[in-house]
Amino acid sequence: MQKKYDFLIVGAGLYGAVFAHEAKKAGKTCFIIDKRKHIGGNIYTEKVADIQVHRYGAHIFHTSNKEVWRYVNQFAEFNRFTNSPMANYKGELYNLPFNMNTFNKMWGVITPEEAMQKIQQQRNDSYVDYPRNLEEQAINLVGLDVYEKLIRGYTEKQWGRPCHELPALIIRRLPVRFTYDNNYFNDPYQGIPIGGYTAMVEKMIEGIEVQLETDYLADKTYWDSVAEHIVYTGPVDAYYNYRFGVLAYRSLTFDTELLDTDNYQGNAVVNYTDSETPYTRIIEHKHFEFGTQPQTIITREYSVEWKLGDEPYYPINDEQNSMLYAKYKQLADVEPYVTFGGRLGEYKYYDMDQVIAAALCRVEEVLRET
Ligand code: FAD
Ligand code: UDP
Repeated sequence: MQKKYDFLIVGAGLYGAVFAHEAKKAGKTCFIIDKRKHIGGNIYTEKVADIQVHRYGAHIFHTSNKEVWRYVNQFAEFNRFTNSPMANYKGELYNLPFNMNTFNKMWGVITPEEAMQKIQQQRNDSYVDYPRNLEEQAINLVGLDVYEKLIRGYTEKQWGRPCHELPALIIRRLPVRFTYDNNYFNDPYQGIPIGGYTAMVEKMIEGIEVQLETDYLADKTYWDSVAEHIVYTGPVDAYYNYRFGVLAYRSLTFDTELLDTDNYQGNAVVNYTDSETPYTRIIEHKHFEFGTQPQTIITREYSVEWKLGDEPYYPINDEQNSMLYAKYKQLADVEPYVTFGGRLGEYKYYDMDQVIAAALCRVEEVLRET
């Protein structure tokens, strides 16, 4: 018997929205459900006191993928925001990512050669050819002082474990530059959608039915009966009722305040890189859009241990969890009529542009098969 919809999209986040948009464009019928009260998943923004608040942490769109950049520009106009976070280490302020401004402030060096020499000196005793963990990788890259002041405390708060137990690849996300350039990303395209991410997602899923506050897994049999194909963007282990064990995540809590000042910290993102400050960073939302409102909204972000039932934010792609994920992936890959996608469905530390690229690739495949 023909089912009512071609696609049931579980999750109104970016992956689900892109998939649904493309499927609808191809003439397919879609229905979207999400267990949250809103669309957008983790990129959800909400206007408060005339300021777009990033409810699930700072989201800066950046990409090297021209196609993806063109793609998102169909749904929003992007402003010229360039992420240049500051690091506050016990009241000392440094520019991020690690660049000549950082090295100048740290050591007083002026030229790239002096900076390289200083790093060379600092890593002399500790250099390892093949860094096995984040600590070794960080010291190789930027030396001991930068590691101690800007990396160790922040990373250990962020991940809740010592740097020598963390994979080296986490720190390789950050550029190290010998130019005076505070752009956090190397990508040629960057910005924040004017009007917020929620409006962008709304536009993507225009004309598609959405039902919020609806948990697919609470009534899976029913939901499976409404569509020919399921696009599942929730946690893959939850789909299989944790039969091999629970995949680990890092979770976050956010403490948001409306303040009666027009400018609290002078920058959108300030990281607190010491070990003692309990939060990892403070976001001042209006600076993402060069806001001139009379008030401001700040959010302190705390990284917390995750347990089942908490919001899963960061997959922990260490060896143990990667092995566990591989078992689930084996099942997911042969599941007929189900696509597992996105940060939770694929258990990947995906940025927004990667999520879009993955969804575009997968929807094309599925449409070809149907
Ligand atoms: P999600 O946004 O998590 O969407 C999944 C949706 O599925 C959720 O809405 C959830 O409620 C729903 N769902 C789950 N299970 C069920 C169920 N059983 N039934 C119904 N619905 C369900 N990327 C960048 O490019 N730049 C950044 O600056 C950036 N900053 C980030 C900061 C933080 C703090 C975090 C956590 C992530 C950041 N990212 C950033 C990554 C970005 O958030 C993700 O790439 C993107 O949001 C992932 O989209 P998604 O659709 O895969 O997942
Ligand atoms: N990091 C750091 N100090 C900082 C900012 C980042 O040591 O001030 C490290 C930390 O280990 C973090 C990693 O760099 O997990 C990647 O940072 P990024 O900003 O890319 O993290 P995300 O955007 O995913 O929160």
